[in-house]
Amino acid sequence: MSDLTKTVSIVAPFFNEGENVDHFQRGLASLLDRLPGIVFEVICVDDGSSDDTLARLIALARRDSRFKVIELSRNFGKEAALTAGIDHATGDAVIPIDADLQDPPDMIPHMIEAWRNGAEVVLARRSDRSVDPVMKQQTAAWFYRIHNRLSTLKLPENVGDFRLMDRIVVDALKSLTEQQRFMKGLFAWVGFKTVTLDYQ
Ligand code: UDP
Ligand code: MG
Repeated sequence: MSDLTKTVSIVAPFFNEGENVDHFQRGLASLLDRLPGIVFEVICVDDGSSDDTLARLIALARRDSRFKVIELSRNFGKEAALTAGIDHATGDAVIPIDADLQDPPDMIPHMIEAWRNGAEVVLARRSDRSVDPVMKQQTAAWFYRIHNRLSTLKLPENVGDFRLMDRIVVDALKSLTEQQRFMKGLFAWVGFKTVTLDYQ
């Protein structure tokens, strides 16, 4: 591997997402093929699904060795599943993404570019929530308003778990001993040189 080659780990938690596994593969594989100079691993964490998610993920990993599977012994919830995936990621950078690809994977090349230009954290921010149900828009806005009034640590609004983190950030995150993890809070808490990219 040359010095220029970087490795990137994509980490996705799966809970009863059997019907989404093929869509997830297609959405990512076409993208990964288009990014020369980056070696990818895609860590798929099955969070105790009761449908055929695990079987489909194992079949996927057999077809494409970039995809790897972690099986949790029961349903632990998204935050724990994500933590397990991040703990096993080996990349120079790690990108958490939801299995339903609600966050656009097309942002990944832009995130990688910002990282290569020196960012340690690259946030992907939704600049438009108008497609969300009004109720969801309202509750999301309240959440950030109340949280950011109560806490000295401000959470960036309209930013989810979808982000790129350099290895230095991931190692800082792994050194935290919290057992009940709210990843968005911990991601913000560790800090580091951050760049924000907007998407619709
Ligand atoms: N998820 C998980 N464990 C759970 C619930 C959800 O791993 O107990 C995963 C789910 O498969 C998806 C991500 O977490 O990849 C986000 O879940 P969901 O799409 O239900 O959340 P929302 O879109 O409402 O944030
Ligand atoms: Mg979702």
